[in-house]
Amino acid sequence: MTAQTISAAYYRGNKSFAVEETAATAPGPGEASIRIAYCGICGTDMHVYHGNMDARVGLNRVIGHEMSGVVEAIGEGVDSVQPGQKVVVRPLDHCGECPACKRGHKHICQNLKFLGLDTDGAMQEIWTVPAHTLHRLPDDLRMDHAALIEPVAVACHDVRLSDLQPGEDVVVIGGGPIGVLVAMVARDAGGNVVISEVNPNRLAIAAKLGFETVNPTETDLAAAINDHTGDKGADVVFEVSGTQPGVDAMTTVAATKARIVMVAIHATKPQIDLFQFFWRELQLIGARVYEPEDYEKAIAVVTSGGVDADVVITDVSPLSDIQAAFEALDRSPTAMKSLIKVGSRA
Ligand SMILES: [Zn+2]
Ligand SMILES: [Zn+2]
Repeated sequence: MTAQTISAAYYRGNKSFAVEETAATAPGPGEASIRIAYCGICGTDMHVYHGNMDARVGLNRVIGHEMSGVVEAIGEGVDSVQPGQKVVVRPLDHCGECPACKRGHKHICQNLKFLGLDTDGAMQEIWTVPAHTLHRLPDDLRMDHAALIEPVAVACHDVRLSDLQPGEDVVVIGGGPIGVLVAMVARDAGGNVVISEVNPNRLAIAAKLGFETVNPTETDLAAAINDHTGDKGADVVFEVSGTQPGVDAMTTVAATKARIVMVAIHATKPQIDLFQFFWRELQLIGARVYEPEDYEKAIAVVTSGGVDADVVITDVSPLSDIQAAFEALDRSPTAMKSLIKVGSRA
């Protein structure tokens, strides 16, 4: 196969990207190459942009993992997909040998490689990945909407681990991009959802998405949730804020026997009111990334319109403008999801 020349955006440190021509990598055995349509900018990508992950990603890395695309070519031994099929990549490559993998928990492999951080990612026209990471899409799903499937799969994993039952009361603490997706997936599963958020722009988007909202800097959140639930409290709480006030709120809004799902990445060690876990038999559930069934659920939810993709996607820029797109997102952290339109043919 002759190598194709493609455009790729390289993170080069110091809040800078360089879009350069390079040769596409042909798929080896067990791999497939994907012509990328769209790639969303994740909070993790913003951390890379800010230089917080230089030690992990280096200074010559194509980042990006929230993508949609079409299979361009397949390597030897690949029979799960064919060229021309629409796909998304579940960007996790596991070792298969560690204790976590051996017990079937490949998504939290102890040597997990995250594609697009530990390897080159989707901010390039053709991305070559292990074929086991691919999920096929329905033909009629819009490719811009499909770029939301990765973050929606995060939300599907969180909601699945919460064991949410239809009719249960849910509080989502933190109404950023992941928070609103968790809220939409929880609502799709039959939950009565309230979003707690302090930022007025994010509160406005949450309201536009049809959610009841509380600004805990203006209203007593626990009192509002008691009001809303006949003094019972929330059956399921998602902590998505990553803040001490959020961690304080997660126990004060919880009903007896509530399940609290820790979605946020807490870089420090917040104080947790452990007494409440004893007194009211609360459960705390850790949730990280997703498993294949969460991807299949996310594809179904996005395809059915359970996630209002047109409200969540706030900006789309071409790959050539990736630098400006990151700068804009940095200036306006209240934007929900910015997409990069990677392919010109998509
Ligand atoms: Zn992401
Ligand atoms: Zn492993």
